[in-house]
Formats: sequence, C-alpha cells, structure tokens
Amino acid sequence: MPVLVMKFGGTSVATLDRIARASKRVAREVANGYDVIVIVSAMSGKTNELVGWVEETSPLYDAREYDAVVSSGENVTAGLMALRLQEMDIPARSWQGWQVPVKTTAAHAAARIEEIPAANIVQKFAEGMKVAVVAGFQGVSPEGRITTLGRGGSDTTAVAFAAAFGAERCDIYTDVNGVYTTDPRIEDKARKLDKIAFEEMLELASLGAKVLQTRSVELAMRYKVKLRVLSSFEEYDPNAGTLVCDEEEIVESKAVSGVAYSRDEAKMTLISVADRPGIAAAVFTPLSEAGVNVDMIVQNISEEGRTDMTFSCPVGQVPRAEKAMQEARAKGEINYHDLVADTDVAKVSIVGIGMRSQAGIAAKMFHVLAREGINIKVITTSEIKLSVLIDRKYMELAVQALHDAFELEKAG
Ligand code: ASP
Ligand code: MG
Repeated sequence: MPVLVMKFGGTSVATLDRIARASKRVAREVANGYDVIVIVSAMSGKTNELVGWVEETSPLYDAREYDAVVSSGENVTAGLMALRLQEMDIPARSWQGWQVPVKTTAAHAAARIEEIPAANIVQKFAEGMKVAVVAGFQGVSPEGRITTLGRGGSDTTAVAFAAAFGAERCDIYTDVNGVYTTDPRIEDKARKLDKIAFEEMLELASLGAKVLQTRSVELAMRYKVKLRVLSSFEEYDPNAGTLVCDEEEIVESKAVSGVAYSRDEAKMTLISVADRPGIAAAVFTPLSEAGVNVDMIVQNISEEGRTDMTFSCPVGQVPRAEKAMQEARAKGEINYHDLVADTDVAKVSIVGIGMRSQAGIAAKMFHVLAREGINIKVITTSEIKLSVLIDRKYMELAVQALHDAFELEKAG
C-alpha cells in the first residue's frame, strides 16, 4: 500500500471537535487506499503553557526535564486521535517518539532526528493497521532520554517520516490554506502560491514566514519529499494548498516569488576596530559562543588601519551581544572605540529562483524603496534573495510597495 503522511498542527487539533474533523480527513485517505501516518502537534497553546510551567518551576531548568514536560502535549493528541479513529472503525494506534523509535541527537530542546527505523510500524501495517498516529516534535536520545526538536518541530517529524517510509506525499494541515506571496495581514493583495520551490521556501521559512519549520524544508529538499501545505478548515479538494517541490516542476516565470520580513531585528556597529587578519574571527567567535544568531555582516573599507564592522541579530540578543563584545575587549582579543546598537530596525527581503536569470532586480528594489523615502541601512544578497535592513516603522510600507512593484498579486 502506498503511504501518506498527514500532519495536523495545533489549531487543527485544538478541540475534540477539531480532532474529529481531522480524523474524517484521515478516514478519507484510508478509503483512497493509503496506509496513513498521522503526525500530531499538541493542542494549540498547550506547548506554551507547558514551557511556562517549566520556567516558573525552575528558571535555570534541566533541559532533559524541560523536554520530558513539553513533549507531553503531543502524547495527548496522539492518543485522542487514535481513539477517535477507532470509534470510526478504523484500525489505528498511537506511538510516542521513543516507541517508534525516533532516534535523535542529545541536544535537548533542539535535537535533530538521526534515524527512524520503519520496521515496527511497517509490521503493524502488514497486520492490518491502517493508521499510525505519531506524536510529533519528540524523540529519544542515545542515552534513552526524551528529546524535543525545537518549536514547530512536528513539521520536521512529518517530513522525516515521509522520507523514512518513502511516502507518496507529506500533507501539512494548518490554519492557513497555503504559502502566500507575503503575509496577508500586511498586504491584502497577497496571493496564495500553487507551487513554490524548496529553495524559495527555505528562504521564506528562515526569513520569518512561520508556515513550516526551516529544518523540515531542508529535510524535504534533501530527500525530495513532496510537501503540501493546506488548511484543515476548508472543504476537501485534491488540489488544495501549496505544493513545495523541486524547481523543475515550476512553470512560473516571475523573478520574485515572495516578500518576507522579520520585524525584531537589531543592527550593531563596532566603531573603529583594528583592521588586521583574524579580526572577523575575533569578533564573531565570541558572538557565536554567546549564542548570538548573527545574520547580516558588513565590514567597511578601512582607513589608517581601522574599520567599522556592522552586523545584525535578533533584537532580544542585543544584551548578550554587548556583553560578549565587552568581554572580548576586556580580554584584549578585540579593540574598538564604541559599540552602537540600533534596535529599531526590520529586515525586508524579496525571494525568487527567477532572480538567478533576470537582471535588474536589485536596482528595481532599491528604486521602489527610494520612491517611498525609505532609507536602506544594510544590504545583503544571495542567488535567490535580496535583503535590506530598514527602520522598523517603514516595514509594512516596504512590504506593500515591493509586493506591488513586482506584481505579486498576479499569477504568471
Ligand atoms: N507543539 C510544538 C510547538 O508548539 C511543536 C509543533 O507544534 O510543531 O512548538
Ligand atoms: Mg507549526
């Protein structure tokens, strides 16, 4: 029997009624002839509540116990979904991560899946079971402790199962009906995409479009898992949602596919650092050791052996970054005149595989921003992405103007 993976996010299993509705979709796919692996999230809000309980009990918590607690939300929904399916006379049972087992690294709260042996579940399918309901987001470490995969991790569980079982497709059911050209809350002309390339989705996911966990897209790209994002609230339609797929399958000829943003950024500038071999390593090693996620980096042309070095990071990490720099200076590893933080910036990016082959995209983006009177503070580019750092108060305006200028409301 062909295998289908269906993942239901927190809003799709938020109540018993919704679990019943999700179960009907599962039943339909069973009737279509699939052996189904269902991956469930915790009921929406549950994981946040569990994280809150952990932090209240123990501010400097033991990450192993954090995982023991926060993984439990998924156990509840897995059991409830299996029960609901049984009530519908569909042979189903639940599996917690360790029972499969979903083998992960020991990096608690951010574990990576290393292996999912298929034998146990395959055996059950062979015995007549139709649906394996698996608790998402969790696994077991080499030491035998429960692990979790980082927030949003059940997407990654779903893709990993699809890869391990050679599933025909991995359907991600959520509360939006697909991937949009930008956030519809900011731009009401945002359009749902029928297809998006893995690489584009990866850029959008890591740029803050919260539809899929970034890691899940990486895995899908590596193992060529057909990934579909669709709403569990709309009527059943075999062509619903957005297909995340190989770029060869995409016929759209547009240069830009989407506009992404990230609101809570900060720009930090080290003023007058000595320009010598090893200076970048001396600056960025302590930042990385302090857990600062540096994104954009710009080093100015130096004058008389000194230069300014600018980088961006999430605004919440500014205190950590400042401390790391001060400590490095105190140790004599770096020396600078001042460290200036601009905490009122946002990042806006355009993404598209068509940018590889079409010239003039950067010029057009800068022109649009200039016309709106928006000053660009930092620019970075990759093959399929162009990002700018701007004042946060202009973020919405920039997203709208770019969406308009690149005609993203129109298909084609
Ligand atoms: N329940 C977990 C979270 O809220 C995992 C997930 O839903 O993907 O992050
Ligand atoms: Mg999610």
